[in-house]
Amino acid sequence: MAKLSVSDLDVRGQRVFVRVDFNVPLDEKDGHMVITDETRIRETVATIKLLISKGAKVILASHLGRPDGQVVPSMSLAPVGVRLAELLGQPVRFVNQCVGPAVKAAVDAMKPGDVTLLENVRFHAGEEANDPAFAQDLASVADTYINDAFGTAHRAHASTEGVARVVAQRGGRCATGLLIARELQFLGDELEKPARPFVVILGGAKVSDKIQVIDRLIEKADVILIGGAMAYTFKLAQGAKVGLSLVEKDKTDIALQALAKAKARGIQFVLPSDNIVATPVDSGKKDKKGRPKMDLTQPRVNTGDNIPDTEEGVDIGPATIVNYAKILASAKTVLWNGPMGIFEDPRFAEGTFAVARAVAEATAKGAKSIIGGGDSVKAINKAKLGDQVTFMSTGGGASLEFLEGQVLPGVAALQDK
Ligand code: AMP
Repeated sequence: MAKLSVSDLDVRGQRVFVRVDFNVPLDEKDGHMVITDETRIRETVATIKLLISKGAKVILASHLGRPDGQVVPSMSLAPVGVRLAELLGQPVRFVNQCVGPAVKAAVDAMKPGDVTLLENVRFHAGEEANDPAFAQDLASVADTYINDAFGTAHRAHASTEGVARVVAQRGGRCATGLLIARELQFLGDELEKPARPFVVILGGAKVSDKIQVIDRLIEKADVILIGGAMAYTFKLAQGAKVGLSLVEKDKTDIALQALAKAKARGIQFVLPSDNIVATPVDSGKKDKKGRPKMDLTQPRVNTGDNIPDTEEGVDIGPATIVNYAKILASAKTVLWNGPMGIFEDPRFAEGTFAVARAVAEATAKGAKSIIGGGDSVKAINKAKLGDQVTFMSTGGGASLEFLEGQVLPGVAALQDK
């Protein structure tokens, strides 16, 4: 059943506690913390403006970074409050606490349409522990609860789950913000009854991270296109040589099960027919974890199934790109999660960017394209195609868990319509 949304509520004069995602990247400049990417603040403005127009007293709560229950000044939300006020065109009162008398006093002084931003909820250990007493404290200034932070909806924390329970127990309403409503629409409803053909593109590092998504989507999709390092685990399972490619040798059994299930259901499960390979050479340097850092040298196209022993697969090859683009051209629904190669390195980004272009072209011809979060969103943005797809999820882990069919605690805590 659809969840109650902020659009459905009459909240005039009410204290509305909104869990937002203001977990923005910050950099220190001349002794001040500066926001380096304000996308998340901009994305939340619609929900906040809607609440202001409805005459609510808007109380905003978020985490920022991982302060682990300690007050870490560099992870304060104060700079976010300054930028938010500019974006809203009205004052935002920042309280350097998220619970306690200072919060109560600030909220008591609010008038309908006012906005207050609380300090980082993760400055308290009770947030991630979902401590009931901390949730009670947060809820003490809330008549209504709105969750618009999809990226943390898969975590049962005090501000994403506990506070909703307290508000609901008191007879208050708990609803989605506009952002979460869209996530549920596109990652949920739209994929339940997709226009066909429904083509799913899955890439990324590991089969083990995505096997539940693969398993669920085999039941819904018409075609599944595989890329990224996970393709090599499937290839290995089929008996091919994968050289030095990133593989999960202990996951070949689940790869075979997925292939068998796809065959039994009569869906097309497509692996790359060629690859870009490179030769790893010890650079003499160490990575952050102290392991030898490898340089990937002599990139070249490798046709056929087998990769030589001294080389590593780093991207899908040109024939695969042509084939995947052709399949995508006739798609009516597209879901994409995970890059086709090591796209952070421009030499190995072509497969991912070519898929991004093919997805945008399919969208221009009328397909619905849904980008399932994380690195695929980064890739679409890097290719400057963000405005040419239907929907990009704001979640990483949360999107994946939702696509797996798992119940997200932050969504489950909200009431049905
Ligand atoms: P994921 O978080 O599972 O979507 O994985 C994304 C990561 O997979 C990115 O950092 C890519 O660099 C990495 N990746 C994709 N293809 C390969 C590959 N062929 N070999 C190694 N890493 C890859």
